[in-house]
Amino acid sequence: MTDEVRQDAIGRAWEDLVATARRTAAEGLVVGTSGNVSVRAGGLVLVTPSGVPYDRLTPEDAVAVDLDGNQVLGDLAPTSELPLHLQVYRNTHAGAVVHTHAVHATAVSTLVPEVPLIHYMAAALGGPVRVAAYALYGTDELAANMLRALRDRTGCLLQNHGTVTYGDSLDQAYDRTAQLEWMCRLWLTAAALPGYSPSLLSRSQLREVEEKLQGYGRPRPST
Ligand code: 13P
Ligand code: ZN
Repeated sequence: MTDEVRQDAIGRAWEDLVATARRTAAEGLVVGTSGNVSVRAGGLVLVTPSGVPYDRLTPEDAVAVDLDGNQVLGDLAPTSELPLHLQVYRNTHAGAVVHTHAVHATAVSTLVPEVPLIHYMAAALGGPVRVAAYALYGTDELAANMLRALRDRTGCLLQNHGTVTYGDSLDQAYDRTAQLEWMCRLWLTAAALPGYSPSLLSRSQLREVEEKLQGYGRPRPST
């Protein structure tokens, strides 16, 4: 790959990353400079800078690090949650990671160790979504707690903090966050009525969904 082609690819990835970060704010999943987004670009990881409102980001603000966390592009400081993003890339095939402080998901993270199986869309995240134990934001300890909670999952909650999801692409990682927030909102809504407790799905019902979802959204096989 020539330098020019590589720079082009990084420029496009940065544009996509900024668009996704803006979407998290526009759709109410974060307020102000909360949350952060990253995407793999070749052997590098592009990340949102720390503490900068997404609507101010320009093409010149691109920040990239290598998998060891060394900054290789940009003048702004990378997100304070760099340890968390890098742990996902080092341990999975993730193409993108989204971290938010979505309100219903964060509320649920203070109530239970695992999101109750209120809806079959839990299967889209690999199963019942765990809550990673609380640790100070931006620390290796938080990243380690998150990694444990992510085992065989593509998303988790961070206790008293927020959400982390990953996917093959920014769109997929974003969509998983939106589904997770929706599911937490659903559980809070159903559990809110005094004297009633919501029915929940069993693990075997969820496994059945996981199998079925593998064919979901794919063209019908030709006969
Ligand atoms: P940054 O602005 O450093 O990305 O931090 C926001 C955040 O959500 C920390 O957990
Ligand atoms: Zn955060």
